[in-house]
Amino acid sequence: MITTAPRGTQDVLPEESYKWQYIEQALTALSQKFGFHEVRTPVFEHTQLFDRGVGDTTDIVQKEMYTFEDKGGRSITLRPEGTASVVRCSLEHGLLGRSLPLKMSYLIDCFRYEKPQAGRYRQFRQFGAEVFGSQHPACDAELIAFVSQIFETLGVGDIGVEINSIGCPKCRPMYHDKLRAYFNQHIDQLCPTCRERLEKNPLRILDCKNDSCKEVAAGAPKGIDNLCEECHDHFEGVKTRLDAMGISYTVNPQIVRGLDYYTKTVFEFVSQNIGAQGTVCGGGRYDGLVQTLGGAPTPAIGFAIGLQRLMLVMEHAGAFMGRDTVCDLYIASIGEAASVKSQQIAMDLRRQGFFCESDVQGRSLKAQMKYADKLGARYTLVLGDDEIAAGRGKVKNMETGEETETDFSALGGLLGKR
Ligand code: ATP
Ligand code: MG
Repeated sequence: MITTAPRGTQDVLPEESYKWQYIEQALTALSQKFGFHEVRTPVFEHTQLFDRGVGDTTDIVQKEMYTFEDKGGRSITLRPEGTASVVRCSLEHGLLGRSLPLKMSYLIDCFRYEKPQAGRYRQFRQFGAEVFGSQHPACDAELIAFVSQIFETLGVGDIGVEINSIGCPKCRPMYHDKLRAYFNQHIDQLCPTCRERLEKNPLRILDCKNDSCKEVAAGAPKGIDNLCEECHDHFEGVKTRLDAMGISYTVNPQIVRGLDYYTKTVFEFVSQNIGAQGTVCGGGRYDGLVQTLGGAPTPAIGFAIGLQRLMLVMEHAGAFMGRDTVCDLYIASIGEAASVKSQQIAMDLRRQGFFCESDVQGRSLKAQMKYADKLGARYTLVLGDDEIAAGRGKVKNMETGEETETDFSALGGLLGKR
C-alpha cells in the first residue's frame, strides 16, 4: 500500500484548509480592486512553450521541469510557473487585440523538480498577476503597489520591496560586456555553472546562491549605473510614483531576473524571517516575451507570490488567517423517529443559511454530545418522543449553559442572535 505522498508535496488537512480559503479569497478580492480579472489555464502545456517562454538557459528549464511524453507521443510539461501560459492564452484568444491594458491574475499550482526544504516544494501554489500593453512607469509602480497592498492587507506589511532595473536590449549588451570583463578577472572564484553562464548570460551570475560567487558579484558593475537614458528615466519614474503613493522600497542592484526577455524594472519582496527561502514575491517587466512567443511586440509586467512562503511569513507575524466555520446547532436524537425529525430540522435550518448538524451514525446520546462538543457547536438541541409530540424543545447555549425552550419553527430566529 502507498502511504506517503511524493517528496516535496503537501496535503492540506481539513482543519487547515480554511486558512488557504481565507488567503485566496483575500487575494481575489484585492485583485478586483486593482482591476484584475482571473484567468485559468491548463495544468500542463506543450513543453516547447516553457522552453521558449521561460528560456532554455534558466534553472527551471534546464533542471526543474516535470516533462513527460503523453500516450500520443507529445512532450508535455506540468507548468513550472504562470506567465508563459498566460501569454499563450492571450495570443490564442486574441486578448491583446482588445482595449489595453489587459490585466489578469491567477491562482495556480506549479511544479518544479527541486530539492525539497523549508519554503521549497515540488508542488507549490502561486498567486500572480500580469499587465499587458503599457510601458509607462506608472504601470510598474501600480503593480508594485498592488503587491505591497496584499502584504499590508494580510498583516505582514513590514515585508520590504527591493527594486532594480536591468535595462533593455539597447543598453544591456554594453552592460553584459562590462560584466563579462569583470567576472573574467575573477573566474577562479566562480562556480562551474557561473563559468558556463559567463558567455551566454553573465547577468545570472548576480543571482547565484553560491557563497564565493556572491562575494564576487557584490563588487560587480551595477546595472543601474549602466542604463540608457530611456531606461534611466523609466526607473526614476517608477521611484517617483512609489514615493508619491507612500510605498517604501530599497534599490538592490543585485536583483536580476535571469531571463533574456526581462527588461527594465525587476523587484522582489523578501522576508528575513522565514529562513533561506525568503523571497515571497518575484516580479518584473518583460517587454520581449510576447514577441518571443509569436505575438506583436507588447510591453508587459507581472509578479508571482509563493503562497506557502506567504503563509510562513503570516504565521511568523502571528497574522490573522481566517476562522474555521462554527457549527450553529447540533441536534442530538434518541430513537428512530427523533432521528428522522432531527435530520428534517437540520435541513430546514441549512436552507435558512445555518451550519447545522445531526447524527448520521445512529450513535448513543452520550456519543452524540461528545461529537457536538468536538464540533464546538454554539447550541445543541436534544430530541426525543416528547419533543416531537410537542413540536418544541430546549436549546442549550453551549457557552453559557443557558437553556431556552423554543418551537422548532422558531429555531432560526434564536440561532440568528449572536
Ligand atoms: P527561488 O530563487 O526561491 O528559487 P524563483 O526565482 O525560482 O525563486 P519565481 O520563479 O520568481 O521564483 O517564482 C515566484 C515565487 O514563487 C517565488 O518568489 C517563491 O515565493 C515561489 N516559489 C518559487 N519556487 C518555489 C518552490 N519550489 N516552492 C515554493 N515556492 C516557490
Ligand atoms: Mg527557483
